[in-house]
Order: sequence, then C-alpha cells, then structure tokens
Amino acid sequence: MKKKPVIKCDECKSQHECCLTGAWVDLEEAKKILKLGIKGGEFYQLEEDKNFPSGYRIGTSVNDNPCTFLTPKGLCSIHTIDYNLKPVHCIEFPYENGELAPFVEYLCVAVKSKRKKKEAQVAFR
Ligand code: SF4
Ligand code: SF4
Repeated sequence: MKKKPVIKCDECKSQHECCLTGAWVDLEEAKKILKLGIKGGEFYQLEEDKNFPSGYRIGTSVNDNPCTFLTPKGLCSIHTIDYNLKPVHCIEFPYENGELAPFVEYLCVAVKSKRKKKEAQVAFR
C-alpha cells in the first residue's frame, strides 16, 4: 500500500505560502468571521457547493491574490484573534478529507520541495 506523505506545518518556515491564493470557506463560517470586524478581511465569489456544510462556499481572495486575512507579517489574522473561527479548510490544509488537497503541489512548500527532490532524482538516473 502507498504510504501517505506526512506534512508538518508546525515545522514549516513559510507558513504564509499556502495563504497566497486565499481559501474557500463555508458561508456560515464566513458570517462568524465577518463579525470579528477584521480590517481589510473580505469575502468574494459566493458559489453553491454541496461539499460544504451550508451548501455554499465563499473565497477569501480574488484572482489568486493573497488571502485578505493574511497580515503583512505573514500571519492569519483570524487565527491570531480566535483560533476557533479559523476556517476548517485552512486548519486541515494541506489535507482534505484525509488525503492531500487538490493543487497542493502548487500551494504547499513542503510538497513542492518533495516534488523537486523526486524530479532531481529522476534527472540524475
Ligand atoms: S500547508 Fe505547506 S506551506 Fe502551508 S504551513 Fe503547512 S507545510 Fe507550510
Ligand atoms: S484565512 Fe488565514 S489560514 Fe486561511 S488562507 Fe487566509 S490567512 Fe491563510
């Protein structure tokens, strides 16, 4: 059986990297986050999605721009104020339903570096 990769976010030195294109958030989570009144933190692009508990998801950035909740110091402003309100998707990333999330090789530095190492090994064979 194929071994699942283990990604340790607490050891990551670029924790903001996976926030550079924003995240999808359940609409009900977003409503609670908005009540925090975080300056500059906004949501865009409401879409139906049955994979989210409310049946709707909404994004924290537009056009692959950084998440609007990312601080200039590279921290998550929601996490800083109330970890319990941090979007589930962000807490689980780079996993989703127990598997590596889609596009993880473009968003997570740890997976990117593993991919590069593998490519280098193939190139030197
Ligand atoms: S998901 Fe990847 S880039 Fe984001 S904090 Fe974890 S290891 Fe770092
Ligand atoms: S909500 Fe926080 S953890 Fe999620 S992408 Fe934005 S800054 Fe990153």
